Amino acid sequence: MRYSGFRLIKEALNGHRGWGPAWRDAQPKPEYDYIIVGGGGHGLATAYYLAKQYGQSRIAVLEKGWIGGGNVGRNTTIVRSNYMLDENEPFYEFSLKLWEGLEQDLNYNAMMSQRGIINLMHSDAQRDAYIRRGNAMILNGADAQLLDQKQVLELYPFLNVNNARFPVMGGLLQPRAGTARHDAVAWGYARAADQRGVDIIQNCEVTGFRFDNGTCLGVETTRGYIGAKKVGVCVAGSSSKVMSYAGMRLPIESHVLQAFVTEGLKPILPGVITFGEGHFYCSQSDKGGLVFGGNIDGYNSYAQRGNLPMVEEVMQEAMAMFPMLGRARVLRMWGGIMDMSMDGSPIIDKTHINGLYFNGGWCYGGFKATPASGFAYAHLLTTDTPHHTATSFSFDRFETGHMIDEKGMGNQPNLH
Ligand SMILES: Cc1cc2nc3c(=O)[nH]c(=O)nc-3n(C[C@H](O)[C@H](O)[C@H](O)COP(=O)(O)OP(=O)(O)OC[C@H]3O[C@@H](n4cnc5c(N)ncnc54)[C@H](O)[C@@H]3O)c2cc1C
Repeated sequence: MRYSGFRLIKEALNGHRGWGPAWRDAQPKPEYDYIIVGGGGHGLATAYYLAKQYGQSRIAVLEKGWIGGGNVGRNTTIVRSNYMLDENEPFYEFSLKLWEGLEQDLNYNAMMSQRGIINLMHSDAQRDAYIRRGNAMILNGADAQLLDQKQVLELYPFLNVNNARFPVMGGLLQPRAGTARHDAVAWGYARAADQRGVDIIQNCEVTGFRFDNGTCLGVETTRGYIGAKKVGVCVAGSSSKVMSYAGMRLPIESHVLQAFVTEGLKPILPGVITFGEGHFYCSQSDKGGLVFGGNIDGYNSYAQRGNLPMVEEVMQEAMAMFPMLGRARVLRMWGGIMDMSMDGSPIIDKTHINGLYFNGGWCYGGFKATPASGFAYAHLLTTDTPHHTATSFSFDRFETGHMIDEKGMGNQPNLH
């Protein structure tokens, strides 16, 4: 069934009795050509592009919980391509271009809203850094504008630009950036993949791999053994755990990241805005809630909930940037498990085991990467070669020292 305005009117006149489930409740088959482990945004996008772009069939996505229960449904929904390094920027710009056509492609309203992102600058040195970043973005085909203080005030008139602890000198704007409704992205990919014959199997945890002579034959699951010609692991915060079943130790640590939402307010934020003197980012949802977050909690954990010291730090940064936020009540907060890599950049690569592939290390930036990650992973799974935008996201960079250290923090995953 295609979704459309016409269909909505027809169903409304019919008492909404004609809507079917968005995807089938598929039962596991004994064998597939491709098994994707993890039904988050990246796993579902991979399955979709395997079927749509690369013409593959006999594909299953195995999800231990439910679709949308992982980070894809827990993030702060920011979509952007304002990266600086040549290894990253073409990939994230490719992703943003896919986002721009995603709703038509999936026939699903993912509430993609290109309302722009501003990174505020508070010092001369930061202005220099943002000019460099903006130029790198433009050279890679993305959009970037340097705003002075007056231009920032035109968009955010309530900012205290001069008499604040950290005066605002201007900002780097990416107008094409914005937000998308996170769980609708998961549902949209799930529905579109299902329509192309992909089996989406929920409540099916992968508990091990079966190998023969250096080749992966399939996966052990809580619903029995399932064979596959190729297995693509895509489990974000559970990466280290799942790959340990294959005897691999990854250059990845798991950390918690929290998000917060206030009560609904009248429109105050036209786009996404970030604080330049710390790590705080905020946007306003279509329901009016301010959606915001900051740094990861900073200790290793697989728990999907955070701790109070980071709540305090995030609120301090919020108050430093918008003192008026102190009047708003926080309604909800939650945590997700981040797969923090040693250099802050992802891995999309083959492993040393034939037929076993890995996608992870997205840190807290993987939502925006969802379309390109799925596309590039589908390319790798089908052709055994990296997609041209993802050639640097390999395991061996940690051996050869070719780090992609966008933040310049060194090999400290808790600081990326
Ligand atoms: C609070 C928060 C805010 C964030 N904000 C942003 C943002 O603004 N912008 C941005 O770009 N990114 C953001 N991120 C990061 C982004 O959400 C993640 O990088 C991205 O969603 C990870 O990919 P995924 O969607 O595939 O992960 P997930 O949705 O976590 O998918 C992985 C799936 O694997 C499943 N799984 C795990 N183990 C197994 C197993 N053994 N067998 C089967 N299935 C298994 C899990 O249940 C899960 O559903 C944020 C993350 C959090 C938590």
